[in-house]
Amino acid sequence: MLIQEIEQILINSGIEPNEAKIEIKLLLEYFANFSLIDILTGKKLDDAKLKLVEEKARLRASTHQPIQYIIGEADFMGEKFKVDKSVLIPRDETEILVRETIKLVNENNCKSVLDMCTGSGCIACMIAKLTNAQVIGTDISTEALHIAFSNMEKMELFNKASFRKSDLYSKIREDEKFDIIVSNPPYIPPKEKQTIQKEVSFEPDIALFTKDEKGLEFYEKIIQEAPKYLNNNGHILFELGIGQSQDVAKIMLNNGFENIEIIKDLASIDRVISGKIK
Ligand code: GLN
Repeated sequence: MLIQEIEQILINSGIEPNEAKIEIKLLLEYFANFSLIDILTGKKLDDAKLKLVEEKARLRASTHQPIQYIIGEADFMGEKFKVDKSVLIPRDETEILVRETIKLVNENNCKSVLDMCTGSGCIACMIAKLTNAQVIGTDISTEALHIAFSNMEKMELFNKASFRKSDLYSKIREDEKFDIIVSNPPYIPPKEKQTIQKEVSFEPDIALFTKDEKGLEFYEKIIQEAPKYLNNNGHILFELGIGQSQDVAKIMLNNGFENIEIIKDLASIDRVISGKIK
């Protein structure tokens, strides 16, 4: 089978031609160690490797599971993060949250950051890599923490980022104070389960969905207890789901936060919210 024919398997399954091109490139790279240069220079791909690439393309086409789960990695802010089905695949929008957090760390010379619901650890690792702050990432899922830990190891952030199993604040001591609490928590209301994209249905339910109808459960729980764990002038930042900015702003105002700022994503959706403790 030719590479073009394998690409066609993806296209026939409904994957956009441009996306199929990118995915073929990834499959060749990961499963055949074959780069774009190898293709352009007409290097020959051996049959066994081509067969493996075909198999993986068929898996992608027949199941529609995300390509990142098939190759086991996802790009985020120029880094390759290990992922599997126990963690959410990092989204481009999350970079806005990371950039905003880094800005606050630098402006306020912050020393400590808590990343709640860390998942793959993408937020914690990028903040640890790009600032001088110490970052702790927490998650309720042991499987997710394994992934976060290997990402930390791969990025050699040994003295900068650490991970802890904790159901929100359950394993955070009250004398452990942070300059910043950041989180991209689950925020999709359960009723949207029926309408999400096929690809998204492979991601862990506990990373995506809340139990309450408005998707606000985690914002509420994290914000209500945040004042206990924040230093003076501490900040809190979240990624937001569509249409949640006003509700989350209200919860923040009701719990002693001020200077609320909302940042839009490229699609003009309110995507990140930040606030400072009074
Ligand atoms: N913090 C992780 C991310 O942004 C996981 C988020 C989650 O599981 N809701 O990718």
